[in-house]
Amino acid sequence: MTVTFLGTGTSQGVPLIGCRCPVCLSRNPKDKRLRSAIMIESEGIRLVIDSGPDFRQQMLREKVSKITALILTHSHMDHIAGLDEVRAFNFIQKKYVDVYAEEFVQTVLKINFRYIFDGTDYPGLPKIKLHTIENKPFAINGFGIIPVRVFHYKLPVLGFRVGDFTYITDANYISDTELKKVMGSRIVVVNALRKRKHISHFTLKQAINLLQKINPEKGYLTHISHQLGLHRDIEKELPSFIKPAFDRLKISL
Ligand SMILES: [Zn+2]
Ligand SMILES: [Zn+2]
Ligand SMILES: [Zn+2]
Repeated sequence: MTVTFLGTGTSQGVPLIGCRCPVCLSRNPKDKRLRSAIMIESEGIRLVIDSGPDFRQQMLREKVSKITALILTHSHMDHIAGLDEVRAFNFIQKKYVDVYAEEFVQTVLKINFRYIFDGTDYPGLPKIKLHTIENKPFAINGFGIIPVRVFHYKLPVLGFRVGDFTYITDANYISDTELKKVMGSRIVVVNALRKRKHISHFTLKQAINLLQKINPEKGYLTHISHQLGLHRDIEKELPSFIKPAFDRLKISL
């Protein structure tokens, strides 16, 4: 199984439009962060988790021409805004794109992308087949996925465990019961927005504490803001098993 980080940035991405801070002006490619998303590939299956505003760029950059399914963690725009771009896969794969999301996430999709779901039949409209998921294990073409319930302030969000890999974006709370599902993962990704407290994201310290509790072989940080600092500076501040993720990072497991 291979995991590719398609994006590791917070909702505005890094650099931010118009920002002149050292992170936004950095020439290090690791400081260029598209909106957070990953791609999981395993034996002919290719799953993309989240389709934010950079979805098109991410698919072009990784030369993706087919996807098995798209899975959504929650309905914030930085995770769904690129949904219209699945049209490309409709044309190539000559079928609808399977999108897995919770019921209340689908409700938001139907409001924000009304033209896709209101029954209008117009050539070139995205063709999407929605599949309802809950906080229960499910499978896509026989590939097992265990959802993990996390909270993004009050908003329920899903993290996902596949085999020994767990991905948790956009959250600042996980219950002990849900944490049990993550335990034993060899690689765990969690969001770490910045150092200063935030209402709905883990801070750097909270993310480190959580990863130390889980104690995987490797921990990665994602959904990073320009306020967290330069990639090379963040790296120095972390325990040796934790690394800041960066766009295009690939992990094999
Ligand atoms: Zn987000
Ligand atoms: Zn900046
Ligand atoms: Zn969010």
